[in-house]
Amino acid sequence: MAKNKCPDCGSQGFYVKDPQDQYNISEFDLEDGEIIYTNVEADAPPLPVADDTEIFCDRCAWHDRLKAVRKGR
Ligand SMILES: [Zn+2]
Repeated sequence: MAKNKCPDCGSQGFYVKDPQDQYNISEFDLEDGEIIYTNVEADAPPLPVADDTEIFCDRCAWHDRLKAVRKGR
């Protein structure tokens, strides 16, 4: 299984949800395991993403913790 990609569809685009506000999300790409935020708004800092943060695939219904993707499983 390729690392840093969605196990289901191979996308490198993911997003996280704010635990306090499910409509507040931050999109990011995983490039070589690095989090590259996309469409960052000037007045809203991106949500932090840690190994245990649940992340969601941009293209399909996959979601899991960040560390699951980084390990390539
Ligand atoms: Zn996917």
